[in-house]
Amino acid sequence: MTERSNFFETKIEFLKGVGPQRALLLNKELNIFTYGDLLQHYPFRHEDRSQFHHISELNELMPGAQIKGRLKEWTVTGEGFKKRLVGTFTDGTGSIDLVWFQGISWFEKSLRKNADYIVYGKPTLFGSRYSITHPDIDPLTAENANGGTWQPIYPLTEKLRKRFVDSRAISRMVRTLLEMATPHIREPLPDSLLAQYRLMPKADALWSVHLPPTQAHLQQATRRLKFEELFYNQLRLIKSKILQKNEFPGQVFDKVHLVKQFYDKHLPFDLTNAQKRVLREIHQDFQSGRQMNRLLQGDVGSGKTIVAFIAMLMAIDNGAQACLMAPTEILADQHYQGLKVYADLLGINIGKLTGSTKKRARTILHEELQNGSMQILVGTHALIEDVVQFQNLGYCVIDEQHRFGVAQRSRLWAKNERIHPHIMVMTATPIPRTLAMTLYGDLDISIIDELPAGRKPIKTVHRYDAHRATLFGFLKDEIAKGRQVYMVYPLIEESEKMDLKDLMDGYESVSRSFPDVPLSILHGRMKSQDKEYEMARFVKNETKIMVATTVIEVGVNVPNASVMVIENAERFGLSQLHQLRGRVGRGAEQSFCVLMTDFKLSQDTRKRLETMCRTNNGFEIAEVDLELRGPGDLTGTQQSGIMDLLIADLAKDGAILKEARLSAEAILETDPELATPPNLAIRAHLNSLRQSETNWSRIS
Ligand code: ADP
Ligand code: MG
Repeated sequence: MTERSNFFETKIEFLKGVGPQRALLLNKELNIFTYGDLLQHYPFRHEDRSQFHHISELNELMPGAQIKGRLKEWTVTGEGFKKRLVGTFTDGTGSIDLVWFQGISWFEKSLRKNADYIVYGKPTLFGSRYSITHPDIDPLTAENANGGTWQPIYPLTEKLRKRFVDSRAISRMVRTLLEMATPHIREPLPDSLLAQYRLMPKADALWSVHLPPTQAHLQQATRRLKFEELFYNQLRLIKSKILQKNEFPGQVFDKVHLVKQFYDKHLPFDLTNAQKRVLREIHQDFQSGRQMNRLLQGDVGSGKTIVAFIAMLMAIDNGAQACLMAPTEILADQHYQGLKVYADLLGINIGKLTGSTKKRARTILHEELQNGSMQILVGTHALIEDVVQFQNLGYCVIDEQHRFGVAQRSRLWAKNERIHPHIMVMTATPIPRTLAMTLYGDLDISIIDELPAGRKPIKTVHRYDAHRATLFGFLKDEIAKGRQVYMVYPLIEESEKMDLKDLMDGYESVSRSFPDVPLSILHGRMKSQDKEYEMARFVKNETKIMVATTVIEVGVNVPNASVMVIENAERFGLSQLHQLRGRVGRGAEQSFCVLMTDFKLSQDTRKRLETMCRTNNGFEIAEVDLELRGPGDLTGTQQSGIMDLLIADLAKDGAILKEARLSAEAILETDPELATPPNLAIRAHLNSLRQSETNWSRIS
């Protein structure tokens, strides 16, 4: 994210020491096309080459050690895979082995016995003797005898290494470039921010991130570059949010008779404080005269639907219509059935539109929507089709947003050209705050962080496959009490066949152990009609155990199901485990989640299982998930906004992000167009970033 000027757009092949062939490699392997790209190819760690260690000081915890000494002799031993060159290296305090498995003949030719070298590598203990495998090795010279600097280690590929483009080669290119570039580097952050957060100037930061004189410099440089990156990321998102707000008016819904009536006469429970707070937030948006774009996050079972419904009442009270879009027929049907009970009490006309709605019913529906006599429409994707026209659509709710794209959101907008409907996206996949700020920075966010009173928390346990008999005994008891059970198997695309086999084996074993119990089976290879049929049987309590892959619906509500067994739990991510667990715990009974695994488990897996057993809080789980997996995996999609980040890490840089966001907000609050003199430079830089982003998309 360097200043866009001709200098930084110079093609990388023109850099001294690169040339056309290496340039091609850099293009292909690292996406480095220009000088600017190279400067932003940040090292991911550094090795301390500033000091020497004695062999007598080595220990296994050292990430790497630099030693000055003499290579006494070497031998080549072993056959095939195990063939290796082993050298004896001493420094007067002790002796270690240097080991090479690759490039043996090259080293035999170029190393000299009884010559002095500097080596660097990670010491490993074998018996009582240390060895370093594939050390960096350089002949001792007058220049390197007193130690070097912190050496950058860059992301590389195998192909680059084979062509001798290693971290050192990159580092040499970067140094050459920095020497020329320094006079061209302009400061993209205003002085006020540099002072407020004590940030290093840009040019210094670029030098120090690549070639830090000390570790302290490296830390300061990294913080500074992360801040800049996140500051511009937030600036862009907040700016587009402001623009949207100013550009698009929204209908004003200020009458609340219906809401009052519903509240006083029909609401079967007290709303939680979190639900009330969110309703106030929505109500404020509805009165603002601006179009609302809001994300409603709430854990499974937190009661998002009733909030959506009460907000619909605000729209209807003011002469507008509302719709709710769900990702599947089953979910649409459940929402329809649930809301119809309330709508009937209030004399509101509610309809359902899905792919399987018959033509006749459809015609009537279309007409009622168009003449305004139908106030609420619940449906699937079917409701965004162009033939579906409303008289005055004022409010759209999208449930379980991760299955809907931005494109679909905008098609809903277009359902009311005169004045776009307010939009609320609901998701049960909690996203950590840091991630939400970048992923959904252009939406307003509401959070329901409280479950309705009286819910019994789901009891979660981890069991090994060896204890299956006990598990089946437990399931029998629960079924005898009238409950239903889910048994879920993983489904990962690469090994679909294997998964299907696991599922079928599981189904067989369950059928044998529960001969008198009606079962359902559900997996991705089934026709969608068959899936719906099986799911419906389970919903109606005709079957007691649902053996399924993860295709079972997010958000489906079977209050009578009280046990969730997750097979091969080690193969699921945390959020996914939590989502699946959310299928139970919806009724009055105590619910259980059983995580089944093999004995052998990685450390990460243990942490996931331990987290699941410890807490039911989706936000807490999301934080751990972000820590374990990093932001890219967590969202599951290549959402822009996080994939652009080159140096900041959303899992770790929450504190910097917060500062950057506050700074961006403060600046935009007083000068939303960035049009006053102190902010003109910021605007210019922001625009230059936009341009280089388009370049990126062209390339990749
Ligand atoms: P989700 O947020 O997962 O979509 P739902 O909206 O389906 O959750 O709500 C789950 C259940 O909780 C529903 O049966 C709903 O009627 C009930 N519910 C919602 N809010 C409350 C409340 N404040 N008190 C008691 N029950 C509630
Ligand atoms: Mg829901």
